[in-house]
Amino acid sequence: MQFRSTRGTQPVGLDEALSRGIAQDGGLFLPTDLPQFTTADFAGSDTAQAIADILLAPFFATSTLRDDLSAIVQETLHFPLPLVELNLKRQNAWLMELFHGPTAAFKDVGAAFLAACLSRLQQQRSEMTTILVATSGDTGGAVAAAFDGRPNVRVVVLFPAGRVSARQAKQLTCWGDNVLSLQVDGSFDDCQALVKAAFVDSELASAFRFSSANSINIGRLLPQSTYYAYASLLHWRARGEKPNFIVPTGNLGNALACVLARDMGLPIGEIVLATNANRLISDYLGGTEWLPRASIATLATAMDVGNPSNMERLRSLHGEGQTLGGVVTATSVADAEIEAEIKLDFAELGMPICPHTATGMHALRQLPEDWRDKDWIVVATAHPAKFESIVEPLIGETVAVPNSLATILSRESRYQTIEPTLDALADALKNWPVG
Ligand SMILES: *Cc1c(COP(=O)(O)O)cnc(C)c1O
Repeated sequence: MQFRSTRGTQPVGLDEALSRGIAQDGGLFLPTDLPQFTTADFAGSDTAQAIADILLAPFFATSTLRDDLSAIVQETLHFPLPLVELNLKRQNAWLMELFHGPTAAFKDVGAAFLAACLSRLQQQRSEMTTILVATSGDTGGAVAAAFDGRPNVRVVVLFPAGRVSARQAKQLTCWGDNVLSLQVDGSFDDCQALVKAAFVDSELASAFRFSSANSINIGRLLPQSTYYAYASLLHWRARGEKPNFIVPTGNLGNALACVLARDMGLPIGEIVLATNANRLISDYLGGTEWLPRASIATLATAMDVGNPSNMERLRSLHGEGQTLGGVVTATSVADAEIEAEIKLDFAELGMPICPHTATGMHALRQLPEDWRDKDWIVVATAHPAKFESIVEPLIGETVAVPNSLATILSRESRYQTIEPTLDALADALKNWPVG
């Protein structure tokens, strides 16, 4: 299996696509051919791991990691992925909870898979690589948790002082010796600018062999297709119908994984994207031009994306503009609707949900009349306890903290504060005892 760039240069193998993250021409990697499956190919497989082994095998066929695939899958899908039936009056709907991993958000799946792959590739090469991540919240925690304690990889997390919640800060700073947490006296944009400057500084880049773990790496996308395969197969077997999915979306990574699963032949019907007030995707599907915008700050912060990079992959696979309307549809959900939805779901179902998941639940209630009789699975992307300062005042109760999150919250924080300059970052790196 080869991986091509969305911009057309020579395809590369999986190992190179994983290590590079982004293609040399600046495009994003996609498989040259998608393997095709039928439900019969998964007969007898009823765990997420067993289904993932089958789904991912073709992608690993010529990789040096081929014999490690099962172990990589075990290290990735090590937590439950429950489908919880919702007792709604008018609709058959389920919630797919993707928040039972170490940092209580779906990004744990992609980050764990990428870490399991990269650490092995670096061990084969007897090389050390340093992952640089700038984060405004969820990504940095998932990446740090995934790489924590793994051989031949180190992680530097840069986060903006005073702009992440207390619980998010803990998830960025509680790790072992191979994770360096740097609180930057500046904004998220300053953190991102520092990462870019470090990558192009030839002295630093060669001393530390920088690499990135951001969400455009194909190693984060592929494993996300496995939970769509798992959920759709279980649903198909139980009800003899294809489930339809509603996916809260910012950068389109999670949603694209759902599209890929359907493209590979999994029994998936409609795919609805739920965005927050950053409505570029729904405007584009409605016929406007693709003109990236500055992002708007909303309650669903992890979806505050003005220029969703995975649209380049979706267009490369399925065409432009309104053609895409036959592939996915999109709904934009305003902050006031997110708040009302969190209240309503707690009142009606006794269920606290996070602001991102609320965009999906709102989209469920807004479905066109002729789609209401279908079976719908709404993707829950984070645990509400991660966003307690938004959720708790709306529902008037505290949200119980899940065990994985409680473990992290009980740990000690370790971090340094640096000025937003390349010199300050270089000093912190040079003084970091090799973990
Ligand atoms: C990252 C994130 C999203 C958006 O996912 P994309 O793959 O960027 O579309 C949604 N919800 C939560 C909780 C997230 O952390």
